[in-house]
Amino acid sequence: MISITFLGAARTVTGSKYLVESNGTRVMVDAGLFQGLKELRERNWQDLPVPASSIEAIVLTHAHLDHCGYLPRLVSQGFRGRVFCTLGTQDLCKIVLPDAGRLQEEDAAFANRHNFSKHKPALPLYTEVDAYRAVSQLQPVGYDRTMPVAAGIELDFINAGHLLGSSYVRMRIDGRTVLFGGDLGRYGRPVLPDPTPVAGAADYLLVESTYGNRIHEQDDNGDRLAAIVRETAQKGGKLIIPAFAIGRVEELVYWLKRLESENRIPVLPVFVDSPMAAAALASYTQRVNELDPELHPEESDDKAPHDAAAPHPPDVRRRQAMQERELCVFCTERFHVIGNAEESKQLTSSKIPSIVISASGMAEGGRVLHHLKAALPDARNTVLFAGYQAVGTRGRRLVDGEKSIKIHGGWVPVAARIERVDSMSAHADANEIMRWLAGFTAPPKQTFIVHGEPTAQDTLGARIQAELGWSHKAPEHRERVEF
Ligand SMILES: [Zn+2]
Repeated sequence: MISITFLGAARTVTGSKYLVESNGTRVMVDAGLFQGLKELRERNWQDLPVPASSIEAIVLTHAHLDHCGYLPRLVSQGFRGRVFCTLGTQDLCKIVLPDAGRLQEEDAAFANRHNFSKHKPALPLYTEVDAYRAVSQLQPVGYDRTMPVAAGIELDFINAGHLLGSSYVRMRIDGRTVLFGGDLGRYGRPVLPDPTPVAGAADYLLVESTYGNRIHEQDDNGDRLAAIVRETAQKGGKLIIPAFAIGRVEELVYWLKRLESENRIPVLPVFVDSPMAAAALASYTQRVNELDPELHPEESDDKAPHDAAAPHPPDVRRRQAMQERELCVFCTERFHVIGNAEESKQLTSSKIPSIVISASGMAEGGRVLHHLKAALPDARNTVLFAGYQAVGTRGRRLVDGEKSIKIHGGWVPVAARIERVDSMSAHADANEIMRWLAGFTAPPKQTFIVHGEPTAQDTLGARIQAELGWSHKAPEHRERVEF
């Protein structure tokens, strides 16, 4: 008998955790943090139904914290097994997990200083040391290679096109196939490849439903971003882009490079001012062959940028561009990664027209706060939000048009233009999920709809029923299913 216990991302989006049990062997797929509302975050502190030390192996679909951010907690509770993931996921986990541990410790210290936690003393969910230990247990596996993970259980990782290293996992357990869909990427987008077609069958399927009731707006081929850059440059202002350090920065820089090479925006200095974003960008560059084929250096020779006003003949410029692309597929003409805090301070005080990409994406912390504090009072500048802005965050307040905003304890007047683009979601929408499901050569015996709010799940379930006729179910939190 096989069972799956849904310990997260059941009737909600975060906390992905699926405990697989077969013949006394326990394997967990994803070890994600609950995020968002307090009621959800409190689940991070609840005990699991089995001791962490009894889990033989963990499998990670990708490196977003709602899929991997609980791993150090399991390690701190005695999990000592291997953590199977792709090479790209290993790279990004090394960046995000120690940082998450550091933030947990800072939050606990802050609560103790200000005495607002009901727990005395407030403790971190895990520490930076726990996170480093977790990272040391990662066991990377290439895509599309079958790997035994525990007695009677083997798997392969298949590229899901959602983030560097992202995968869906085909697991074979005692002759049956369970496909863990992870987070699904999108079709026809830059930077990441399309989700790999299934081209096969599975006995049981778990599919995400974040946008199970939504269709993304049409791609505008970078038009809005180009207009915002041009208009800010004409005013002699700076463009500040708060961005999520992992995943989003790559797409932004890709677009800036492309718009530059198509002469749709002026060549401006582009600064990436976030150590995490810079590290992630380096990982993306190293694994360029796992990205969208358009970015593979050997396949894109005919796409070298051309510029009539360039100081060199076209063939020299073309060769330079090719060399540069091999070094950094993301580098714009005047591309700079900011290193230490001193450089960041200099950039903050500089009035030279430029584009500054910095974290955090919702302006809740990080170096971007210094840039905002300096840029917001000046009407020549623009702040562009490139991702979802949750209620209560500074990013949301700015997008909602507040005329002054509190940063580092002081009020900052907002004179700068505030913009947002919503076209960079990394999750498949309802049509894209259905397109991926259509790749199955036979209906699964049961499809479990996970990783979505109830409305999104129910809408997607109705489509799966109507268009495919598959049997489906959205399990409840902590529900155990046997088959
Ligand atoms: Zn994700």
